[in-house]
Amino acid sequence: MNSRKIGLYGLGTMGAALALNMAEKGVKVEVANRTPSAVLRFLDDAGPLAERIAGHQSLKGLITALPTPRLLLAMIPSTAPMDAFLDEVIPLLSPGDTVIDAGNADFHDTRRRATLLAEHDLHFVGLGVSGGEEGARHGPSMMMGGSEDSWDGLEPILSAIAARHDGDPCVARCGPDGAGHFVKTVHNGIEYADMEMLAEVYDLLRFGAVRDVRDVAEIFAKWNQGPLESYLMEITGKVLSYADAPTNLPFIDVILDRAGQKGTGRWTVIEAVRLGQSATMIEAAVAARAWSAEKPLRETAEETFGADRAALDIDADMLERAMLAARVLEYAQGFRILAAASVEYDWHLDPVRIAQIWRAGCIIRARLLDDIAAAFAESPPKDQLFLSPRFSSVLMSGIPALREVVTRAAQAGYPLPVLAAALTFWDTMRQGRGTASLIQAQRDFFGRHGFERIDQEGDHHGPWWR
Ligand code: NDP
Repeated sequence: MNSRKIGLYGLGTMGAALALNMAEKGVKVEVANRTPSAVLRFLDDAGPLAERIAGHQSLKGLITALPTPRLLLAMIPSTAPMDAFLDEVIPLLSPGDTVIDAGNADFHDTRRRATLLAEHDLHFVGLGVSGGEEGARHGPSMMMGGSEDSWDGLEPILSAIAARHDGDPCVARCGPDGAGHFVKTVHNGIEYADMEMLAEVYDLLRFGAVRDVRDVAEIFAKWNQGPLESYLMEITGKVLSYADAPTNLPFIDVILDRAGQKGTGRWTVIEAVRLGQSATMIEAAVAARAWSAEKPLRETAEETFGADRAALDIDADMLERAMLAARVLEYAQGFRILAAASVEYDWHLDPVRIAQIWRAGCIIRARLLDDIAAAFAESPPKDQLFLSPRFSSVLMSGIPALREVVTRAAQAGYPLPVLAAALTFWDTMRQGRGTASLIQAQRDFFGRHGFERIDQEGDHHGPWWR
């Protein structure tokens, strides 16, 4: 088998960028698209790289051109179109071929599709690809789920096109079937929380501390030189520095405050809950997007109750420390979901490697991930980032700042869904004895559910049942 030849179906934004990346890295790539005219357009736009890419006018033509066992990557919507694509492609393939879904799939679909393809002696790979168009073109971070055989065939290609962090390709086989898409889903959940946190801090600085938007952009740019360095921090500073030419307003002011979402944040929350886990910061970020979409309701509520907010006594240093602590907790929540899923699905996810492949190419790449990878490598049995000695000083100095920020913002009327969730998560998890004894008593009172006692074995009921 020519392990460096691959078929790519779907020349939309991501597929086209991946195909060019492959061609540039010396991977022999053959392409096709549902609408055939897109193939010629793509090759016309590919410049000198077009010489290294073979285009086909049909899926059948593409498949016929690939050596067996085939590698066929689809970059199309991973919902119904993927099922329709599989129905079409399965009869055209030969035993041992591998189909790769590189879209943003629900990992339950990936597991179902892997089972379906296995019935036809075909391999199915769920490949999470992060980094948007730019990442796909020049080096994404990739999270692979599939068999070891599939990994052996794909690894040279994926390593060639992946982002690199100090020479290390940001791609790994996370585990079998849906593991890669699940890791990508949690990646996106963390992305939601981080974006919302940055939006909350922007609000505090611009409207609470009454800073000019250009000052705020500079503060974000400065933070990006320190421990908070990350892709999202960088682009937030850049976004805030633009003005709208016709109106001369800050560009941010001409964008409607209604956030879109495609579902990966919601999936993270749903899976976290299914796994008996908490992802309150991610949940808060998903909720914030949902509330943002209810603009008419918010406008009515503002007319009814007023939207007055007091000025805030808050400075950039305090916010920096608060955000650093919150970011540790946001990654901690993400990795707790990964750990729970790893046990549930017997995936053996490696948190060190996952942190490492998120260090470049992907949307949540951040300086902090070096420490996160090191923390997991140092104390794997504890498995809880906030217990790692590596983060003690960040948390010890950051939590008081976070508490100040959340308290002052609450008093002055600024909503902080994610930052407040971070503080509550922290305050809950550091209590050896919490309030759940009362929950247990209530459950027993109304439903005879029973409870454990602190001083005796077995299941007990309260005196209310005597
Ligand atoms: P685009 O809309 O740019 O392209 C979609 C591609 O899918 C086109 O080639 C289109 O073909 C094809 N397609 C759509 N419906 C069907 C169908 N029913 N059957 C066959 N082909 C179909 O999307 P993107 O490139 O942005 O996204 C592709 C995948 O990548 C999605 O799963 C997305 O979630 C994922 N993704 C996207 C990222 C991004 O930043 N955009 C980041 C990471 C993953 P045609 O030309 O005929 O319409």
